[in-house]
Amino acid sequence: MSRKPLIAGNWKMNGVLIDACNLAAGIAAACRGVSDRDVLLAPPFTVLSEVAHTIGDAPIILAGQNVCWEGKGAFTGEISPVMLRDAGATATLVGHSERRQIFGETDELINRRLKGALDFGLLAILCIGETLYQREKSQTFAVLEEQIRKGLADIAADRMGRVAIAYEPVWAIGTGKTASNDQAQEAHAFIRTLLADLFEKDIAAQTRILYGGSVKPTTIDELMAQPDIDGALVGGAALDVDTFGRIIHFT
Ligand code: PEP
Repeated sequence: MSRKPLIAGNWKMNGVLIDACNLAAGIAAACRGVSDRDVLLAPPFTVLSEVAHTIGDAPIILAGQNVCWEGKGAFTGEISPVMLRDAGATATLVGHSERRQIFGETDELINRRLKGALDFGLLAILCIGETLYQREKSQTFAVLEEQIRKGLADIAADRMGRVAIAYEPVWAIGTGKTASNDQAQEAHAFIRTLLADLFEKDIAAQTRILYGGSVKPTTIDELMAQPDIDGALVGGAALDVDTFGRIIHFT
C-alpha cells in the first residue's frame, strides 16, 4: 500500500507574530503546486490564526503542538481541540519528547490527549522515542512498545486513519545527531509490525510513520528511501525557509 509522504515542521516555542508570518509565507510559496506529499506546520498557539491567514489556500496542514482532551472548561493553560479548529488547525502533535521530559507528561495523559484530538476530528501525530540511556541498555524496542500500547490504548481501528506516528529518538532531537538510516528503518519496521499486532495488517500498512531527530537537507533523501519511513518531523531545520523547502522537496 502506498502512503503519501508527510513532512511536518514543529516550530516549538519560536517565533513572534512577524517572524511566524514571514516564515509561513516563505513555506507557502515553497509548497506551491506540491500535491504528491503532505506538508504540515505546527506553530506556537499564539500565532496559529495569523499563520492560517498567511498560508491561505496553500496546500499546508496546520497543527497544534499539543491539545487538551476537553472542548472547553477549567483547564488553565491548556488549548482545546475546538480552539485549535477555530484557529485554523486540523491536526495536532501529542506526546512530543519535550512534553514528556520537561513537563512530565505520561503515556496515560498523552493517550487522553490523542483521544480528545480524534474525538474532535483532528489528525493526531503521536510522538514516541527512546533516550540514549535506554538505547544503550538495549531497551529501545521495549520503550517503543510501551509508548505505542499505552498511547494508542482504546483507539478503535477505524480511527487509525487519522493517526500518524513520529519516531523521534530523544538523543537525536536538537543534537545534530541523526539516527542512521538502518537504525531509523529498524525502529520503523518494529513499530509497523507492532501496529499489525495491535490492529490489523491493513491498518499497519496504511499508517504513516515519520522520523524525527535533527533531520537536515543532507539526510532527508536517504531517510525517505527507507521502506518504512513515510515522512519527517522536523524541528530546528523547519525554522528556515530554504532549509525546510529543501526538505519538503526531498527526492
Ligand atoms: C522535533 O522537535 O520534533 C525535532 C525533531 O527537532 P530537531 O529536528 O531540531 O531535532
